[in-house]
Amino acid sequence: MHKSNYIGRFAPSPTGPLHFGSLVAAVASYCDAKKHGGKWLLRIEDLDKPREVKGAAQQIIESLAGYGFEWDDEIIYQNERIDLYEAALKKLQEKNSVYPCTCSRKEIADSSQTRGIDGVIYPKTCLNHPIKEGAPFSLRVKTPDTVTTFYDAIQGEISQNLSLEIGDFILKRADNIIAYQLAVVVDDALQGVTNIVRGADLLDSTPRQIFLQHQLGYLQPHYAHMPIVCNTQGEKLSKQTLAEKIEVRSASQQLFLALKFLNQNPPQALQSSSVQSIWDWAIEHWMIERIPNKRLIQI
Ligand code: GLU
Ligand code: ZN
Repeated sequence: MHKSNYIGRFAPSPTGPLHFGSLVAAVASYCDAKKHGGKWLLRIEDLDKPREVKGAAQQIIESLAGYGFEWDDEIIYQNERIDLYEAALKKLQEKNSVYPCTCSRKEIADSSQTRGIDGVIYPKTCLNHPIKEGAPFSLRVKTPDTVTTFYDAIQGEISQNLSLEIGDFILKRADNIIAYQLAVVVDDALQGVTNIVRGADLLDSTPRQIFLQHQLGYLQPHYAHMPIVCNTQGEKLSKQTLAEKIEVRSASQQLFLALKFLNQNPPQALQSSSVQSIWDWAIEHWMIERIPNKRLIQI
């Protein structure tokens, strides 16, 4: 292992306990960072208070510690960093890149015929017409009608036209909550993250994030999106699909299964080894090239 400038991270939302799907993402980002002699940061993405489950953040942190993850630097909580996101918003406002929108969900659904890859495409009503006086408003960013392309270390070349495929997306909701897309970009930049290894459910979000990075004058990190873990019905493992909480007492076995899912070919004997020897093996033998370039894999 050598010292390097690599900074990776794991950024769970506290919407439930750590499950096998999130463990896989944690393992992949951890092994890739450690293989490169880099840092691995832990960030709790707790901006969406209505979706937060009380105690989940602490539970996730304790599970990670029990699984032998060691994070560098202090854990960051997005909820304590709202001023930083507001400052970024202000910068975008000064560039005239954002505009207020007073449309309700229903109004948008009724007025828009086009569906994009992430729901209906906002028809720019509030950009072209006066907004409702005194009504609560969200802030949207003006998306470019150009193709954003990036190279993903696992999925290959990805291209998206933000204006045609996504539309002017929200940076701050009408209930004043900062959107994930903005917060993630600000934090990755301020934490100096160089390499993002995460689930392919976020692949479609990446062009939005790259666009915001450019708007804010940030460096663009390297991306690798691993396939996400699905149940036999093809649903992503999540709290909504009632993914089971993984127990720390079966850490060795779960880590072994995570490495197997990531196609790292762990030797069978590792399954009953100590957590420490699994990590030693995993980091030494880590090859991101072995991860299949699929968006999802059923287990
Ligand atoms: N907080 C996001 C999630 O749990 C992940 C964010 C990211 O890795 O960019 O889905
Ligand atoms: Zn509107």
